[in-house]
Amino acid sequence: MAGHEDPAYWEDRKGRLDFRTGAFIDGACCPAASGETFDCINPADGQLLTSVAACGPEDVGRAVRSARRVFERGHWAKTTPQHRKKCLIRFAELIEKHAEELALLDTLNMGKPISQSFPTGVSEGPFPADLVTAPNHIRWFGEAIDKVYDEVGPTGPSALSLITREPVGVVAAVVPWNFPLLMACWKLGPALAAGNSVILKPAEQSPLSALRIAELAIEAGMPDGVLNVVPGLGAVAGAALGRHMDVDCIAFTGSAEVGKLFLTYAGESNMKRVWLECGGKAPNIILADCPDVEEAVEAAAYGAFHNQGEVCAAAPRLLVEPAIKDEVMEKLISCLDLFQPGDPLDPKTRSGAIVSRDHMSRILDYISIGVSEGAPLRSGGARVRTETGGYYVEPTIFDPVLNRMRIAQEEIFGPVLSVIDVAGVDEAIAIGNGTIYGLTASVWTSDINKAHRVAQCLRAGTVWINCYEASDVTSPFGGFKQSGNGRDRSLHALDKYTEIKSTWIRFS
Ligand code: NAD
Repeated sequence: MAGHEDPAYWEDRKGRLDFRTGAFIDGACCPAASGETFDCINPADGQLLTSVAACGPEDVGRAVRSARRVFERGHWAKTTPQHRKKCLIRFAELIEKHAEELALLDTLNMGKPISQSFPTGVSEGPFPADLVTAPNHIRWFGEAIDKVYDEVGPTGPSALSLITREPVGVVAAVVPWNFPLLMACWKLGPALAAGNSVILKPAEQSPLSALRIAELAIEAGMPDGVLNVVPGLGAVAGAALGRHMDVDCIAFTGSAEVGKLFLTYAGESNMKRVWLECGGKAPNIILADCPDVEEAVEAAAYGAFHNQGEVCAAAPRLLVEPAIKDEVMEKLISCLDLFQPGDPLDPKTRSGAIVSRDHMSRILDYISIGVSEGAPLRSGGARVRTETGGYYVEPTIFDPVLNRMRIAQEEIFGPVLSVIDVAGVDEAIAIGNGTIYGLTASVWTSDINKAHRVAQCLRAGTVWINCYEASDVTSPFGGFKQSGNGRDRSLHALDKYTEIKSTWIRFS
C-alpha cells in the first residue's frame, strides 16, 4: 500500500472521507435553523466538496445560550485546572490520532499542499506541518494551566489583596481560512484552558476541520456547550456573534477591514472585548553585510511564496541594499521552480491552489495594478494549471517597486513579491515601517549593533534577525498598528481570555 509520500495514498483517503456538514451546538450536530447551506469548493479543481449549514442569528443565539449555560453551571469553568489539563491533553491526542483526516480536510478546503498540512516527510519546508503545531497548541496550554499562579498585592500587614484571573465567559473565536485548524487552535488552547466556553466561527471557505474537532472535544470529555461551531457567512454568522449582547469576548484573526467591523459591532452592542490578529505587509531587509546570502534568499522565497503567499506573516516586501542586489535577484529567480504551483495532494508540491476563484481574481487584479503603476514584472504574473479547473497563480516578482505603490502598501495575500531598493539602514527602517501594518519583519546583517538597532526601530510584533518565521507556541505573536492588538501564543495569550479581579481583605 502507498505511503504518506505518495499522491495515491491521499487520493484514496480523500475517497473515503466522511464530511461533517452540520453546525455543532450544545454537543450535537444540527442543520441551520433556516435549513440553508453554503457550498465548499475544492480550489484544486473547482469542484464541489460538500455543502455546509449556513448559520444565522438564530443558530448563533442557540450556541451562545448553550455556551452561557455551561459556563454558569461551572461544569468546565469551575473545574480544577488539573481537570481541564487532562481533558485538553486528551483533545490534543485525538487531534493527532485523526491528523491525516484533518490535514486532508484543510488541504481540500483551501488548497494548501498536503505536506504543509501533514508531516508527510516530503518537501515540508522549514516549518512544521499544521497538524504538528495545531495539537501542540492545545497540549501546551493544557499543560501550562495548572502551573499558572495568581498574585498577592504588596499591601502591607493590615490587608491582603488577591489578584486573581477569572475566565471572561463566552468567547467567540472568528478565524480565517489560510491555516484553518491552526488558527482555531491558537484561540482554543488558551481560551479553553482558562475555563471559557467557546463558539468557533470558521471561515466560510474552510469549515470542515472545525466541525470535525468539535466532535473530538466531546470525545475528549469536554461538556456539551463548551465548544460550539457555527459555520456560516462572515457578514451573517460572524456579524451575529460580533453584535450579540451575551458574547463577552471576540478573538478574531482575519483582515484589518473585518477587524475594524468587530470594533464597531462591539461599540454598538455590549462593549465586548475585541482582540484582533489582522494582516501584515512585512519587510524582509537584506543588508549588504548579510552573513549568508544563500540562506537569506531561500528564506525570502519561502517568506513570499510559502502557503501560496496566503500568510499573515509573509514577507511580500523584499528590501535590498544595492551592493548585493544582483546576487540576491539571481539566486531568487533560481529558487522559483520550487514554488511553481502543483497538485495539493502531491506531497512533493510546495505551492498549492489559491483558496477561491474570487481570491485568485483579486491577486491577478493586483498584478495588473502593479503593471499599470509602472512596476517592472520580473517573473510570473499569470494564472496557471487552468486545465485542472482549479485556481493557481505563478510566483510573481516585481522589481524594482516604489514603496508608495499599491502593490507595496496593500495586503495582496498571494504569491506576489515586491523588491524595493534601499540605500542603507535608515532608509530600510523608514520603508520597513512605511505601511499601516506592523505584524512581522526581518533583517539580515552580520553586525549585531546594526541588527539590534533595526530590530528596535521596526514597529512590528515580531522581528527576526538572520532568520524568517522562526517561532513556536512559546513566543507571543501579534501585531503593532493595524495588524491588531493582543497576542496569541505563550502565556501572554491568557490575557485575552481572562479578567483580572482584585479582592481586598482588611484585617482588624
Ligand atoms: P476575513 O477578514 O475576510 O475573514 C476572517 C473571518 O471573519 C472569517 O471567519 C469570516 O467569515 C469573518 N468575516 C468576514 N466578513 C465578516 C463580517 N462582515 N462580519 C463578521 N465576520 C466576518 O479574512 P480571511 O480572508 O479569512 O483571511 C485572510 C486575512 O487573515 C488576511 O488579512 C491575513 O493577514 C489575516 N490573518 C492574520 C493572522 C494573524 O495572526 N495576524 C493569521 C492568519 C490570517
